[in-house]
Amino acid sequence: MWIKELSVLECTHVLISGHLAHLACVDGSRPYVVPIYFAYSDHHLYSFSMPGHKIECMRSNPHVCLQVDERGYEHGWKSVIVQGIYEELQVSAALAESRTHAWYLLSKYPIWWEPGSLKPKDQPVPQAADHYEHIYFRVRIEAVTGREAHYPEAPEL
Ligand SMILES: Cc1cc2nc3c(=O)[nH]c(=O)nc-3n(C[C@H](O)[C@H](O)[C@H](O)COP(=O)(O)OP(=O)(O)OC[C@H]3O[C@@H](n4cnc5c(N)ncnc54)[C@H](O)[C@@H]3O)c2cc1C
Repeated sequence: MWIKELSVLECTHVLISGHLAHLACVDGSRPYVVPIYFAYSDHHLYSFSMPGHKIECMRSNPHVCLQVDERGYEHGWKSVIVQGIYEELQVSAALAESRTHAWYLLSKYPIWWEPGSLKPKDQPVPQAADHYEHIYFRVRIEAVTGREAHYPEAPEL
């Protein structure tokens, strides 16, 4: 096995073909990590959520880190780490286009909304609205690094 660093372009290919990330955010002085689905577009990772702990953490501190990986031949793998800034796509005229773009990207995947929508317990309906708050957000990529572990294919006998 050998390990090599991925170029920024190779990292971007992993992010384009990837769909599942581990999202780490800052919970006060502790890390908090959850798996999320995402879609890459133009130096941003787009995702969908309901209100909850990770959203509160990211609203308090927008610095986040995501890890995405891809399996290769035998025990081979590619792994990409993104450092970025959380940006909530609020329901406002200014961000309406970005919310629609997020929906368009994510809706290419089946059940894209389900893991972000369901909670173990019923959630209280917000007093000011007659519907739950659907949150679209994106992470603006500030830095990216990647590594690949490669196993040479066995020669044919
Ligand atoms: C394959 C996959 C894809 C997913 N995709 C999305 C997505 O696109 N968007 C999205 O919002 N969510 C997604 N989820 C669910 C996500 O991992 C969280 O469970 C969910 O978002 C709730 O997180 P929260 O911070 O709002 O937790 P809250 O509902 O506020 O609950 C907080 C408490 O529950 C615990 N908790 C929350 N989630 C988990 C978990 N996954 N495992 C163990 N303990 C947990 C925390 O430790 C904390 O104590 C996905 C999960 C999986 C497995």
